[in-house]
Amino acid sequence: MAATRERGPAPVLDGARAGRGVWPATAHPHADGDVSVGGVRLTALAERFGTPLHVVDEDDVRRRCRAFRSAFHDGEVAYAGKAFLCRAMARWAAEEGLSLDVCSAGELAVARAAGFPGERTLMHGNAKTPEDLRAALGHGVGRIVVDSFHEITRLAALASEGARPRLMVRVTPGVDGRTHAAVTTGTDGQKFGFSLASGAATEAVRRVLGQRGLALAGLHCHIGSQITDPAAYEEAARRMVGLLAAVRAEHGAAPPQLDLGGGFGVAYRPGDPELDPAAVAERLRRAVRAACAEHRVPVPRLTVEPGRAIVARAGTTVYRVVSVKHGVAGGLLVAVDGGMSDNPRPGLYGARYTVRLVGRRGAGGDRAATVVGRHCEAGDVLVRDARLPADVRPGDLLAVPCTGAYHHAMASNYNLVRRPPVVAVRRGRARLLVRRETVHDLLARDVG
Ligand SMILES: *Cc1c(COP(=O)(O)O)cnc(C)c1O
Repeated sequence: MAATRERGPAPVLDGARAGRGVWPATAHPHADGDVSVGGVRLTALAERFGTPLHVVDEDDVRRRCRAFRSAFHDGEVAYAGKAFLCRAMARWAAEEGLSLDVCSAGELAVARAAGFPGERTLMHGNAKTPEDLRAALGHGVGRIVVDSFHEITRLAALASEGARPRLMVRVTPGVDGRTHAAVTTGTDGQKFGFSLASGAATEAVRRVLGQRGLALAGLHCHIGSQITDPAAYEEAARRMVGLLAAVRAEHGAAPPQLDLGGGFGVAYRPGDPELDPAAVAERLRRAVRAACAEHRVPVPRLTVEPGRAIVARAGTTVYRVVSVKHGVAGGLLVAVDGGMSDNPRPGLYGARYTVRLVGRRGAGGDRAATVVGRHCEAGDVLVRDARLPADVRPGDLLAVPCTGAYHHAMASNYNLVRRPPVVAVRRGRARLLVRRETVHDLLARDVG
């Protein structure tokens, strides 16, 4: 499957011209209507691996890792593994010098299987189970981000049996990232963190420092996801530095690290706003330095935890059209062989996407279209407000870009549909990372 490039001016993928493309870095349209990613045609991938299919552009992932590393060159970039994790992804993050966030014993097991260094791993979660905590301690996880008083007590008890875990205290700074309610995590009244305003955060610090078996590595906050306003991060940073100063005033020293979480917004459709890592890094550095000068505290080492911004754009999902209804929902109603089982985001957050016919050039002009899935729910809609060629028909391939984050990771077996494979592409080669589920997989757990 070698790369083929047409001569002459290449057709432009939607939105790419504006410099705000939604396709992977190496995506390339062909004159015959096909699209290649990583030098491999999507039609060839569909042929070889079947549909639905998740395609990941490895170069795109690595470039974004590097962009964050260079933007935060004096800090730490921890990839939030919950966005998309398999052993290959953990290895890419390791090779690019990133740290890794996990939020369960399962994610930790995958990271370990990939040989990801324990000391560069952070464990998150508002309700880590005893199993999660034991796995974290047993595997030498570098930092555990604590989220409740019960957890501090539990860790103190576990720590007395062995190693001295390094903790960060997850703080709710009261900053609203102005994003979807389901992914707003920085305000009081949602389930994450110790409130800054109520004094719970300073009490959590007191309790950690009061335990001989525990060490305080730093403070943490994560104000939400899909944030596109850098001012929200600056405000969170200022408040967190204020807390560092309060800790120093009470205990004589402030912990050395300040983790400002992830949530860097990406464009799902051409023209959507997104955050530039370099610009955010510069503003954050300035805000932190100014606040530290004002409070006379040493400048902490910054950590950021991008998930979506590392992998969203690298992913493309390829579906095959199963049926088309005309004149329904104000245009074409195009049903494909996947749906909410491989992408629950439209249902969860009202997420919007673009879609493109691949493998042939359509005819008859563009029509308004809605792309729906195969599941037994009227809400199983993948793409609203789409435009597709009038002659789109069963057997055609459709590609939905920007599906690298929280797609494979959130996939389910609803209707006992088998979860799609994940294929990495790079320099003209395709490599299967996660195989398609089989009926045998489904039945293997059904032991009754
Ligand atoms: C989900 C999460 C992230 C990553 O969020 P993105 O929107 O994918 O960047 C980072 N840190 C924590 C604590 C999270 O829960």
